[in-house]
Amino acid sequence: MKMHIDTAPVWEAYRTDCECPLCLLNAGVEQGGVEYFLGESVMEPDQRIEVNEKGFCARHFRQMYDAGNRLGLALMSQTYMKQTLDKLRKNAEKQRECAAAEAGKTVFRRFGGRKGDAMQGPMDELKALMDTCVFCERVRRTMERYVYTILYMYKNEAEFPALLKKSRGLCLKHYAELLETAPKHLHGDALKHFVDDLTNVEAQNLERLSGEVDWFIKKFDYRNQNESWGTSRDAVRRAVNKLRWQVVNEDED
Ligand SMILES: [Zn+2]
Ligand SMILES: [Zn+2]
Repeated sequence: MKMHIDTAPVWEAYRTDCECPLCLLNAGVEQGGVEYFLGESVMEPDQRIEVNEKGFCARHFRQMYDAGNRLGLALMSQTYMKQTLDKLRKNAEKQRECAAAEAGKTVFRRFGGRKGDAMQGPMDELKALMDTCVFCERVRRTMERYVYTILYMYKNEAEFPALLKKSRGLCLKHYAELLETAPKHLHGDALKHFVDDLTNVEAQNLERLSGEVDWFIKKFDYRNQNESWGTSRDAVRRAVNKLRWQVVNEDED
C-alpha cells in the first residue's frame, strides 16, 4: 500500500504527555471534520449527495451540534432528512405489507423464534439507515494513514522506537488497531520488536493507570484525606478513555 506520509503530526502527538497519541490525533481529525462538514462541504454538491445518502452517527451529530453552527447543521440535516423521508416512505410500505403477512400467519408459523420473522427484511433495511456515517468514513481514512505512519516511523526513524517505549501506551481501541495493522507493513525482526515494545508499554501503562485509580478510591477513605492526590485526581477520566477511546473530554472533568 502506498500512502502519503506526514510524520510531523505523529512526532508531535508522541511528544505530548497523553494516554493515547492516536486519540490525540483523532481529536484533531474530528475537529477538522466538524469544520469541514459545517463549512465548505455544505457548498460541495458531491459531498452533499454522500451526506444525503449516509448521514451521521450519534457521536458526530453531537460534535457538530456542540460546535454551535446551527445554520450549517440545519442545511446539512435538511436535505438528509428529505432523502431519509423518501426511503422511510418506501420502507413503511414494506413494513405494512410484511405486517399483514405476519398478522395472517397460522399459529404454528408464529411459534417461538419465528414470531415477527416476516417483518425482518424491512426491519434490517430500517436499521441500516442508521448504520452509516460519512464523517466516520472520513476519520477512518485519515486514521488508517496515521496508524501506517507509526509503523513506518518505527521501522525508518531511528529515534522513534525509544519515544514509543517511553510513551503511556494507547487506548485499547487504538492498541488493537495498531497490532492488527502491524503485520501488514512490518515483517521479520521489525515486526517482532514492534509487537514486543507495544505490548510491554501497554501492559506497564495499564498497570500504572490501575494504580492511579486505586489511589483515587483510597482518597475517599477519611484516613487519607490529608494525603496528596498525586496524579490521581483525573484518573477516572483517563481510565475510561484508556479502556475504550475518547469517551470523556478533558474540559468535561
Ligand atoms: Zn486512542
Ligand atoms: Zn460518525
